[in-house]
Amino acid sequence: MIAVVKSSATTEQLDHFVKWIEDRGFRTNVSQGDNETLVGIIGDTTRIDPFILESMDLVERVQRVSEPFKLANRKFHPEDTVVDCGHGVLVGGGNFQVIAGPCSVEGENLIGIARAVKAAGATMLRGGAFKPRTSPYSYQGMGEKGLDLLMEAGGELDMPVVTEVMDPRDVELFVSRGVDVMQVGARNAQNFPLLRELGRTQTPVLLKRGMSQTIDELVMSAEYVMSEGNANVMLCERGIRTFETRTRNTFDVNALPVLRHLTHLPVVADPSHSTGYTRYVRAAAYAATAAGADALEIEVHDCPSQAWSDGAQALTPEQFGDAMRRIALIRDAVTAPIEEA
Ligand code: PEP
Ligand code: MN
Repeated sequence: MIAVVKSSATTEQLDHFVKWIEDRGFRTNVSQGDNETLVGIIGDTTRIDPFILESMDLVERVQRVSEPFKLANRKFHPEDTVVDCGHGVLVGGGNFQVIAGPCSVEGENLIGIARAVKAAGATMLRGGAFKPRTSPYSYQGMGEKGLDLLMEAGGELDMPVVTEVMDPRDVELFVSRGVDVMQVGARNAQNFPLLRELGRTQTPVLLKRGMSQTIDELVMSAEYVMSEGNANVMLCERGIRTFETRTRNTFDVNALPVLRHLTHLPVVADPSHSTGYTRYVRAAAYAATAAGADALEIEVHDCPSQAWSDGAQALTPEQFGDAMRRIALIRDAVTAPIEEA
């Protein structure tokens, strides 16, 4: 971290500032220029609040030169992390997976949808039993009964189950039921007690990007889980809120290569919530595959018009099957070695 000190600062003020930093356990490197003085702050600067420094009268501005995230940072862990989701399904490090299923678990139709997505090539089953709805009057999910249905379907089809946990008090329940991947929804991306609680398990976590979260903030959320001891984190781009109203969210396809560059964690894309409309989901899924996503999460429903949540963005099993064939072709195109001319 570098603090730029105003040229008007006296030597005494500068010495006082340097001492203030060093008293907090950091080393400093002062370089005096003609117009300004740079104070390099060396050590674990994640422990310093740059705003405190900027609030000091003699400080012009503060610049970070290294990222505030450590455990998720590719600089300290150059190899891709591979997350083992159970049932022999790995994500990351060249392992590509498709997670599919309904937005919410609604009852006995789950197993039919699960069989259809598996037949089309999906390798993981999704479905919400505890639903984070914007309105308290909307369908809130089946709760524990929904978890039972998911686990039965996952067991029958030998597929890992991905399902959202909203409350830190439910984490133990999810673990005891054997949920394979706990999803943190966009609305909980900065629910720090939840992130910490998930960090105290070893169950893989699918961490969705908050709708107004910057890429760095998403990685800091991952850091919360990892700093408690759970390194099995997957990051998910699911669209962000912008001024655009033609789609439910704006799919930030840039985030995929940026996250792969900054972190070693698997990067997942959700084209369903990114777009919000069935007619656009496949195009976003293809873009995500081409941009190097390690996995896709796609909502599929046997009768979208009757779905209890997110029917407007669900693919039918037939549409999903069609998408899967093209996704496989795109994945091959972007991963195949190119022969020298
Ligand atoms: C979901 O996956 O159904 C969901 C609610 O997603 P998000 O948290 O991304 O809105
Ligand atoms: Mn949904």
